[in-house]
Amino acid sequence: MCELYGDHDIAFPSLGVGHLLGYPADRVADVLIKESISMAEQGNKWKDIKTGELSKEDKKRVYAVGQKHGVFVSLDKDKHCIVLKGTPNSVSKTATEIGSILSSASSAVSPRRKENRHQRGTSSYWKHLLEENPVPEYWKFFQNGKSFFEIVRGFIKGSTEKRYEVDPKTFKAICKLVEDTFNPSLVGQGADARNLNHKRLRVKKVEIIENLDLFKIYNIKRCEMLKNSLNDKRSFPRKLEKIPRCEGIQNITSKGEIMTEKNNSKRLMKDIIPELNEVYLFHGTKKDYVANIISKGVDPKLGSDEGMFGRGVYGCESSTKADQYADDKDKRGTEGRMFLMRFLLGHMYLTEKPNKYKLPPCYHCRRDCCTNQSHQPYDSVVGVKQQSGGLFREFVVYEKNQCYPEYLITYTREN
Ligand SMILES: [Zn+2]
Ligand SMILES: [Zn+2]
Repeated sequence: MCELYGDHDIAFPSLGVGHLLGYPADRVADVLIKESISMAEQGNKWKDIKTGELSKEDKKRVYAVGQKHGVFVSLDKDKHCIVLKGTPNSVSKTATEIGSILSSASSAVSPRRKENRHQRGTSSYWKHLLEENPVPEYWKFFQNGKSFFEIVRGFIKGSTEKRYEVDPKTFKAICKLVEDTFNPSLVGQGADARNLNHKRLRVKKVEIIENLDLFKIYNIKRCEMLKNSLNDKRSFPRKLEKIPRCEGIQNITSKGEIMTEKNNSKRLMKDIIPELNEVYLFHGTKKDYVANIISKGVDPKLGSDEGMFGRGVYGCESSTKADQYADDKDKRGTEGRMFLMRFLLGHMYLTEKPNKYKLPPCYHCRRDCCTNQSHQPYDSVVGVKQQSGGLFREFVVYEKNQCYPEYLITYTREN
């Protein structure tokens, strides 16, 4: 145990060694430093942490930082941790500086996770993908799935959720997606667009949401869909633009490829499996619901029954459409929010007839309520409302684990 000697003392392990070997030092440092400061402020204690030792050079630098700030620094050799003692302010400064020393420490190893070098679509490619079972590579706080999480869980009490602003390149990619899917001539068109007449959306801020628990259930579903397709239970789903333009669904199919997929950049596709019709879609929402969605996701069972295609989670390919739901139709403002969410659309049921679905219709017999035990429903419904001119396609899933709110976009409406 790294005992604490007072309310404002903190202790943390040296990085890149012991249990922490093999994890990106800067990420570990980031998590540890921030959390250790907030834990110290709350008077919390560390759990048992075993780590290796710092090099002589690094030790010297660590002591020097303490001296500079008037903080007592001790390296606990038996327990392999660093203990700081001083006023909260100086301890916090010291911890931050030590953190940056540790993150570039000679003893820290910067690892890579095993890259999937198999040819896309081959069985070894999918096997590799399934076995990895990771969180997205670009996540900062929760890396390498389970093992890292278990380590970090020892440090972060109860927190499996992080939200922070994205890097400039991701910001640019998402701005572009908002712009490319925005159509000024459709603003104010349709029943849900009442009292809107702006010309463009200006993105102010994009935040990424790392919600480990939520992503876990999403990824389990994704693996399950992948396994089903590989085991030939249903084969891989068809892309929307490849579905024949039959009678009754011409309006949907004639719009072609899903706009957010067509316009998406490589940067955002890193962890996406298009073969499963996994896509990013916009989901506009009122400010009051944002925090709840970030921590619990969107649960169709808690939603209203108002949707044209029943009680599901609705996504859209157009930022013009998502923007309609950012506030009250009769109390429009200038600022709005929309999520860029992942959807697992899988096998899509296409329809132009509104229907209060509880689940997508049967994949085998196309009945709404199929009782055949060996039959399974489609994974999602794609529809248009003819009443509003069929302007926008809506993409609906009926299970919470088929969507993940990954980015939160804050924007203003401008003329
Ligand atoms: Zn492999
Ligand atoms: Zn059936």
